[in-house]
Amino acid sequence: MTEQEFRKVYPLIAGWIKKTLAEHATAARPVATFGFSRLPDYCNAQVLASSNVVVVSRVPMPPLSAMGFDRFRDFEQMDAGGITYLNTYFVRADQSHSESLHFHELVHVIQWRLLGLEKFLALYAEGLERFGYRKSPLERVAFSLQRRFERGAQPFSVEAACQSSIQDMTRPGDGPAFLNRP
Ligand SMILES: [Zn+2]
Repeated sequence: MTEQEFRKVYPLIAGWIKKTLAEHATAARPVATFGFSRLPDYCNAQVLASSNVVVVSRVPMPPLSAMGFDRFRDFEQMDAGGITYLNTYFVRADQSHSESLHFHELVHVIQWRLLGLEKFLALYAEGLERFGYRKSPLERVAFSLQRRFERGAQPFSVEAACQSSIQDMTRPGDGPAFLNRP
């Protein structure tokens, strides 16, 4: 993905995300209200109070091909269990009781917060293009922390884990070159 391609599609995706979040704002509720018992061992209370969940029958995916970006068609058509945009994530109704899925999406909420809209999208798109969905760096971190959570690992700070993995991902020389330019 060239910088030029990213610059062209970025405002369209950013606009679509804002519109999608606005449309679902009244249905969104903090994950803290779901009453999950293990999440507070890994995510601090502020994260749980400020991360919002929308339960839907199908999670909204950005219409990338309609935006002229059809190389991510597989991703766009994926019927995912959850997807996160900024501090809000969508979960499919049949999986809305899965604490592990909420955990995975909370990893993304923290990644979005640490990176901001533009950097998150650039890193995510770059990772998707180079490595595919499961092995893209931001997903790899989310899946590996989720596995630790499922194994019942000793409580750890998701925020600290995200912070150090993002430092590695955004080191000069890694990821989209245009993000590292001063
Ligand atoms: Zn994910």
